[in-house]
Amino acid sequence: MRDTLIRKSQNNHMTIHVLLGIICGLLVERLYPSEEAKKLVLIGVLGNIFPDGDHLLYWFYYGRKTEYSKMVKQLLRKFKLRGVWRFCTNNHKELTSLYSHNLAAPLLTFVPFLYFQNNDTHIYLQIFLLSWTVHYIYDILEDLLMLGHLNPNWYFHFKK
Ligand SMILES: [Zn+2]
Repeated sequence: MRDTLIRKSQNNHMTIHVLLGIICGLLVERLYPSEEAKKLVLIGVLGNIFPDGDHLLYWFYYGRKTEYSKMVKQLLRKFKLRGVWRFCTNNHKELTSLYSHNLAAPLLTFVPFLYFQNNDTHIYLQIFLLSWTVHYIYDILEDLLMLGHLNPNWYFHFKK
């Protein structure tokens, strides 16, 4: 059972992020039915994918000297996009130094979500923040599932 879940989560990581984004969009749509559902879902999806934009910063900026980044860039230079995809699918749990993936991050996104939710303002931002928070929750649960513990980046321990 655990092995099946691990395999499914590993092979469908980004698809799951997209689905979670759709769910966040639809949840907020329930609260504000007058808003256009398609737009809310799109914002939900963007909010769930956005935090992984940090991978780009890692590859090309603060983690550019790591073997992981070198490997990705080598594949990118050869335009082996499927290779990049496969490499990241199989190894993204080895990437333990994403600055944005730490335990403070979901609080920093969830608290403003609650604030706007309470005040009934900034509906689009609400979805984005909720979906962004849910991204971290899924990543955390996936760490627990696959590794049995959280990767050190969640505790602000970043490998250099
Ligand atoms: Zn992530």
